[in-house]
Amino acid sequence: MADVPAECTIKVMCRFRPLNSSEVARGDKYIPKFQGEDHVVVGSKPFQFDRVFQPNTTQEQVYNACAQKIVKDVLEGYNGTIFAYGQTSSGKTHTMEGNLHDTDGMGIIPRIVQDIFNYIYSMDENLEFHIKVSYFEIYLDKIRDLLDGMSQADPLCYMVEMEKRFPSLSNVIQTTCLTHDNILLRPLKDSVAKKVLLFKSSILPEGPCLSLSSQVSKTGAEGAVLDEAKNINKSLSSLGNVISALAEGSGYIPYRDSKMTRILQDSLGGNCRTTIVICASPSAYNESETKSTLMFGQRAK
Ligand code: ADP
Repeated sequence: MADVPAECTIKVMCRFRPLNSSEVARGDKYIPKFQGEDHVVVGSKPFQFDRVFQPNTTQEQVYNACAQKIVKDVLEGYNGTIFAYGQTSSGKTHTMEGNLHDTDGMGIIPRIVQDIFNYIYSMDENLEFHIKVSYFEIYLDKIRDLLDGMSQADPLCYMVEMEKRFPSLSNVIQTTCLTHDNILLRPLKDSVAKKVLLFKSSILPEGPCLSLSSQVSKTGAEGAVLDEAKNINKSLSSLGNVISALAEGSGYIPYRDSKMTRILQDSLGGNCRTTIVICASPSAYNESETKSTLMFGQRAK
């Protein structure tokens, strides 16, 4: 393993999806004005990112710019983290998972899995690799294991290990995988009601991928829905604080403020490679959410 300096880089990318059919049917105005490869103006407010992807950008182009280098660095000993952030329906699932069974439509996670296995297949066959994956949701500050109940059923998943490092994750299953098309891809198809979920894979060290949304509806929220939204917003603001502290090179990083940031501590700190993909709608109907999403991304720069 290469001698890795303890430094951290955070890249913030921004991806706009196309107008969807109901936005087109409603006659919504298309608001982003793209300038070069890294600027976008929304409602006369300019934003700059490491890259801005227009709606016609392919899944492969997004992968190449957002993840390919991280996979290479993880194989050399860095921690890698990729997460998508944006309001509901902004394209997070499309970006992270995409269409798992279509070569062009595959999102970032299946492409990472493919790249990792291609790397392993290209290595000396006497070298032994251990790949483990855990997949869980953090919802209302509780962790739900999305692999639980699946591992026994799959003959290819012969080893289950407990995560020892984080007390809060002591019951989350890590499954070892033998090929790229078994356990790594299967739970993605079944991912349910995900508000905040982590897909955490490792060739040691680890590289989690996650998808985040803040879900206060336009019609307002009450009771449990409001509690849920507040809780998600708390996790997201803790994450925003951690990322801006890291981006500023601050001596104190407030990892302990939420369960999510505690779990991500290892992946975000130290010798990390992090990419945030800010996902956004191009419709004027979503202008205020889009602006606040882009501002979240801007804080990390
Ligand atoms: P989220 O996970 O943020 O709630 P989704 O990824 O499910 O949003 O996207 C909502 C819809 O928009 C889906 O039907 C998805 O296929 C479509 N979509 C999202 N991004 C794109 C894109 N870049 N190109 C084409 N369709 C997209």
